[in-house]
Amino acid sequence: MARPLSEREREILDLLLSLEVPGIAELREQAPTAQVVGMCECGCATIDLDVDRDVTPPSPLGRRYGPAVRAITRPLPLPPNAKVTDVTGVEVKDADVYFTVHLWVDEDGWLTGIEISDLVLDNPGDANPFPPAEDFYPPRLEEPRSRARTGSSRRWLPRRRR
Ligand SMILES: [Zn+2]
Repeated sequence: MARPLSEREREILDLLLSLEVPGIAELREQAPTAQVVGMCECGCATIDLDVDRDVTPPSPLGRRYGPAVRAITRPLPLPPNAKVTDVTGVEVKDADVYFTVHLWVDEDGWLTGIEISDLVLDNPGDANPFPPAEDFYPPRLEEPRSRARTGSSRRWLPRRRR
């Protein structure tokens, strides 16, 4: 069931479309027609998007493999109730967490989703909602990949907050 983007989802979409590169203008035209058509089953804030392909142009930023744009947060405190344990299984209460959001554009040039990930949280589903746009560094263009990356997310050791 399609639904409109939440205010925060719209904020993150706008953030990811705020860089100035050829092909971004087409995505900005698609963005107002975007609707959420799916959510990640793990409970994180990742969303699948659909746009109106009849009234907007495709973008040359489409990727066959991998996302088109990414933005990362500055170090943030853990989300409420989120848990982080170190390699010995001891809970780390004061860990920093860094989130990455990725904008997915299919190979035909249409917006298809926004993905959130991190390398610290025990449960990836705790990455919800998206952090506010002000917590992110400016977005960067992703280089096209030649093949799909394997789905393993390497876990980093949590760093203690000072
Ligand atoms: Zn998820």
